[in-house]
Amino acid sequence: MSGTSHTPAVTGPVRTRIAPSPTGFLHLGTARTALFSWAFARHHGGTFVLRIEDTDVARSTQDSVEQILESMRWLGIDHDEGPIYQMQRLDRYREVVDRMLAEGSAYRCYASPEELEAMREAQRARGEKTLYDGRWRPEPGKTLPAVPEGVAPVIRFRNPEEGAVTWDDLVKGPITIANHEIDDLVIVRADGVPTYNFAVVVDDWDMKISHVFRGDEHVNNTPWQINMFHALGAPLPAFAHVPVILGDDGQKLSKRRGAVSVTAYEEEGFLPEAMLNYLARLGWSHGDEELFSREQMVAWFDGSHLARHPAQWDAAKLAWVNAHYLKALGDEAVLALARRQLGRRGLAHDGVADALLLRACTLFKDRCNTGAELAGWLAMLFEPVEATAEDRAQHVGPVVRPAFATLADKLEAAAWAAPGIAAAVKETLAAHGLKMGQFAPAVRVVVCGRAQTPSLDAVLSLFPRAAVQERLRAAAQAPL
Ligand code: GLU
Repeated sequence: MSGTSHTPAVTGPVRTRIAPSPTGFLHLGTARTALFSWAFARHHGGTFVLRIEDTDVARSTQDSVEQILESMRWLGIDHDEGPIYQMQRLDRYREVVDRMLAEGSAYRCYASPEELEAMREAQRARGEKTLYDGRWRPEPGKTLPAVPEGVAPVIRFRNPEEGAVTWDDLVKGPITIANHEIDDLVIVRADGVPTYNFAVVVDDWDMKISHVFRGDEHVNNTPWQINMFHALGAPLPAFAHVPVILGDDGQKLSKRRGAVSVTAYEEEGFLPEAMLNYLARLGWSHGDEELFSREQMVAWFDGSHLARHPAQWDAAKLAWVNAHYLKALGDEAVLALARRQLGRRGLAHDGVADALLLRACTLFKDRCNTGAELAGWLAMLFEPVEATAEDRAQHVGPVVRPAFATLADKLEAAAWAAPGIAAAVKETLAAHGLKMGQFAPAVRVVVCGRAQTPSLDAVLSLFPRAAVQERLRAAAQAPL
């Protein structure tokens, strides 16, 4: 058995969907599934549908819907239809369930939660699997219990008892589940709201979904869904269950172990093109390609080469991918990123000209993995710096300190650009008999707050002249 999927057959119009539940931010796993679904649709010139699965009324919020839409927009995963809200389709679900009740593929169940718990308890005591025992399931010649008064029933799907469900999963290969392994699932709750497994079938049917990409936590739901498709006489979509993403520690990616929402990465100053590229490689490959554009992915993504084994989240690799895109970023995008990240740090940057900020970004960004790191460099221009005690002790000793005032004086007449500043530094070295290797780190520590920076003269030229002089003079006078 090979470790990756084969190219799925495409016989009609390709229609895929992503169906997030709006109970929080867009999760990285959902974003990756959205990306695969979207890329597959785009590859085939098909349609990508966004459906909001908001039937968990207590936990779904409009705020979350907005966040999800925003993250999809940010990633550039655009949908052609939707958002379609399940809670706006209740009439349609009712219509389908009425049909199923009439045809006998669904039935009402009045068992109370306590009764069902007692049933499961007895099954556990006998060492059996806990399955609904069919007590309200109509059978020829069977007398059902008396309908209790004032109890709103749930509606259950009448799952076939015989045979097995088999499908050829696009990722996992052939899967077979015997029908006696699964029970009669609740498809409509007592309050009339459909459950996930039912609504998803009606929707995928109505929306003519041809290929379902989703996380493999849903593999166990698929047999029920397939049986319902059959009961409704609806054509089956193809299923692709994508393995989970594991965190750095080999456990399932979760909130407790770091950021799991797309929003958190956006806030840290990761770039959408980098996120997209990195997410694509989590469980999918195209030869040895690590860095590719959205267009390349669409050209390559035909559903083959999806990995069967779980993908491993690798923060260092994401940082590397992001650094690559950061280096290549155009001026306007760099400025937008820098201003957003400066704002996030609470640094007043509005009065700073684009030209100056861009020079600073150009100087620093090749040393950064993220926008947040870039703002960490830019911060020296906007707030007082505080070097570490180690840097001060190592670089700012009695030998170099007298030269600070000299440099501050010489900068007074310097033409305020790198060459003029370089000349002033050189004169200062000569006057004090210092070497560049001694003096430059000292100046960096007191002006920039760190011992290593890009070329000293270029960095100093980013500051106002008076600011550099002030930092030098303060350092000349500060107690050692
Ligand atoms: N609402 C489900 C989820 O977020 C969708 C599952 C599916 O794609 O069928 O996991």
